[in-house]
Amino acid sequence: MKRNLEILANQKFDVLVVGGGIHGAITAWDAALRGVSVALIERGDFGSGTSQNGLRIIHGGLQYLESGNLSRIRMMARERTTWMKMAPHLIHPLTCLVPTTRQPSRSRLAMRFALLANDVLSYDRNQLADPEKNLSDGMIVSPGELKRILPGYDVSNSTGAAVWYDAQIYNSERLLLEFILSAAQSGAEVANYVEAISFLQEHNRIVGVRAKDFQTGEIFDIQAKLVINCAGAWMDCLLDKAGIRSEYVTSVAMNVIVNQIWSDVAVGLTSQSVNGKPPQPLFIVPWRNKSMIGTCHIPWRDAPQTFKLKEGMVQEFLDQINSSSPPLKLFMEDVRHVTWGFLPVKKVDAYKEPVRLARDSVVIDHQKKDGVLGLISVLGVQYTTARRVAEHAMDLAVKQLGIKTKKCQTQMMQVRGGKIEDFRAFLRKALLKAPRVINERSTHHLVYTYGSEYYNLVECMLSQPELARRIDPLMPVTLGEVEHAVQHEMALTLADVIHRRTELGSMGLPPTATLQKCASLISREFQWSSEHQQREIDRVAQTYPF
Ligand SMILES: Cc1cc2nc3c(=O)[nH]c(=O)nc-3n(C[C@H](O)[C@H](O)[C@H](O)COP(=O)(O)OP(=O)(O)OC[C@H]3O[C@@H](n4cnc5c(N)ncnc54)[C@H](O)[C@@H]3O)c2cc1C
Repeated sequence: MKRNLEILANQKFDVLVVGGGIHGAITAWDAALRGVSVALIERGDFGSGTSQNGLRIIHGGLQYLESGNLSRIRMMARERTTWMKMAPHLIHPLTCLVPTTRQPSRSRLAMRFALLANDVLSYDRNQLADPEKNLSDGMIVSPGELKRILPGYDVSNSTGAAVWYDAQIYNSERLLLEFILSAAQSGAEVANYVEAISFLQEHNRIVGVRAKDFQTGEIFDIQAKLVINCAGAWMDCLLDKAGIRSEYVTSVAMNVIVNQIWSDVAVGLTSQSVNGKPPQPLFIVPWRNKSMIGTCHIPWRDAPQTFKLKEGMVQEFLDQINSSSPPLKLFMEDVRHVTWGFLPVKKVDAYKEPVRLARDSVVIDHQKKDGVLGLISVLGVQYTTARRVAEHAMDLAVKQLGIKTKKCQTQMMQVRGGKIEDFRAFLRKALLKAPRVINERSTHHLVYTYGSEYYNLVECMLSQPELARRIDPLMPVTLGEVEHAVQHEMALTLADVIHRRTELGSMGLPPTATLQKCASLISREFQWSSEHQQREIDRVAQTYPF
């Protein structure tokens, strides 16, 4: 994948997608698969907005049962299956559990009914050929069983637990990148570090954007018959430039990563009321031998870029977590990493507490709503539903363009790396035929990360065995992956490599030696001076606030 701004500046596209989060990435892939000429620009790196910071759950929609939104559950259950088909190497089943209590809405009977409804609404979930992707029916377990599953959990107030199955993204940053790579492979022109700074307008029609390349500072125009605004939390900043007022603002949501509390099972708990705030639902999710805990909502009414995460906010979240009786009390020093991003809130709800998030993703037709032609906005509320939302956006785009194209293809395709019919069998085979230079842990890691494309990296390592060496002894990431990121995946900065091409930065700030090794490897490609390398290292350090 090559960054080619000359093509962006000189070609007229049918569709220009602004924003390389999950919604933009899948929209570009969808467009390219339909045969529409499409470009995508992202002002930072792909996924560097909210999409790299989620809890990484592909929800089947059980949480919508309480509101009786059955069609939403059905849609999400279908999407969950589609995700596992699109990216079998990056999305795997996840066992989830919530303790039952004597409270009527959380009783064994109520939860038994909820699980049954969930199973019925996802009746076709096991249609995939891959046995690893089968999700069993939900079940109710006894207090004794709960004690066994959650060692250290105080079961005295529980009557047992409800267990069901969802899916988890092994690496959401790479998943997003695979959509970008797949879009590019299917003909999309994509570039990171390019910002849409204003619209090109002819009367009431948008005909492209004026863009800024952050690499050179150069300003240039990109012409397109239609612009799809996938700018996430910054959607309204962009709409402002077309004189359109948005109905949404954003609120902040945060997860913390701590040492593993419980392995193999994601646990839903409820906090007590803390500092006068009402009890909050919490989800403690096992992730790469650690626990990720979410989601804390922080009301924020100003521009997203003015938000600064403060230690007090994290401490307050830890107080909430501690009030839910985990087996160990958590302190600030237990926090390995904090990830946060923005979620949309309707302006009318902006001053309500607790935070009332927008519940549904929306594709906004500005022709209908504001009389502005050539512009569609995508307001996405979940990673899980992003493929479906992108499909709607592209259906509308094709209609407005008045062109004949193929129907949406994304629900039946695999992303790059996804050509795997049986994940366990594929992994076994990869481990068996792994060359001697690559050890078992690295092979395992390569298959989970690159799926069917893992062999490209193996081949590089066979021709240059030093690339099979690990960068950090505690992480499975190899030198070859850093080189691959820079040469083939449009990584332009050290942060791109640390945060979004490899998992080196996912468990907190990597050791200085790791950052130096990476920076020096990248320098071979970009000829960075030692001062430049140090600036890149400092920039990565700044992305960890505590
Ligand atoms: C803490 C947290 C936990 C979550 N957990 C889950 C979960 O478990 N499951 C789930 O399904 N969902 C979850 N979500 C929701 C999900 O992560 C988001 O809905 C989704 O990532 C939003 O994607 P997006 O593409 O709309 O936005 P973003 O990822 O923010 O992408 C928008 C992009 O547009 C770019 N941009 C903005 N302006 C411009 C411009 N002018 N020019 C060029 N580019 C521009 C930005 O840089 C950004 O990268 C969670 C969210 C948070 C915050």
